[in-house]
Amino acid sequence: EAAISIRNLVKEYAGQGNSPPKLALKGVSFDVPEGGIFGLLGPNGAGKSTLINTLAGLVMKTSGEVSIWGHDIDRNPRNAKASIGIVPQEIVFDPFFTPFEVLENQGGMYGVAKALRRSEELLRAVHLEDKRNAYARSLSGGMKRRLLIAKAMVHSPPILVLDEPTAGVDVELRRQLWELVGELNAEGVTVVLTTHYLEEAEALCERIAIINHGELVTNKPTRELVGMV
Ligand code: ADP
Ligand code: ADP
Repeated sequence: EAAISIRNLVKEYAGQGNSPPKLALKGVSFDVPEGGIFGLLGPNGAGKSTLINTLAGLVMKTSGEVSIWGHDIDRNPRNAKASIGIVPQEIVFDPFFTPFEVLENQGGMYGVAKALRRSEELLRAVHLEDKRNAYARSLSGGMKRRLLIAKAMVHSPPILVLDEPTAGVDVELRRQLWELVGELNAEGVTVVLTTHYLEEAEALCERIAIINHGELVTNKPTRELVGMV
């Protein structure tokens, strides 16, 4: 079974004021196979965030079907949510919380048993153990991004989704994030990431779907795609 299955997904944003409604996804269908790193590639405005936010439950789809780890997001939202960890594009946590507190709170919210031990384990996994008690606002951009990844993994979901993880990030930090994503994938986590960098998708992903103007243009193993675009 696919890790994520998307069928005929349509999203129309209502128009505001004088602006007309916007059809951001025009009937997108694809599967994310279990176990690999899947890249969703497309230019700004293509519909990538809309798709990710639909998986995250932040955007209400207009029509179509989405299943996460076999759970339909309408019929079984609890299990769908438990099966996925989302790393948003923007860095969002309370600046006066410490990394340890951020993870503990998230663990509590998801009812994670042994949240304390899980938080310690994740701080090690993202190499933040010596910052466990520092205020989040004092962390570097790279540390914050790693903390966001740890936060998304607190409930041990089988699927991790990252929305433009390396947008506006320097070369060294990009390398660090790639390495971390690779480590999580090697431990069995199915990874989905969006990017508008072709080289990033080529370097990291086994399979790449290209989306443009709300439509799926291509969905192929990376080796079949190289040379085509
Ligand atoms: P991407 O992540 O690929 O840059 P988005 O999903 O953010 O693309 O946007 C897809 C299209 O939907 C764009 O034309 C964008 O302007 C529009 N859009 C995104 N969010 C909203 C919203 N809340 N209301 C209206 N239009 C939106
Ligand atoms: P729902 O939860 O929507 O009622 P099901 O009862 O059919 O759907 O549940 C699907 C089951 O398949 C779940 O228990 C899920 O954990 C399991 N499953 C195991 N491996 C996978 C996989 N790779 N992809 C999707 N689902 C899987």
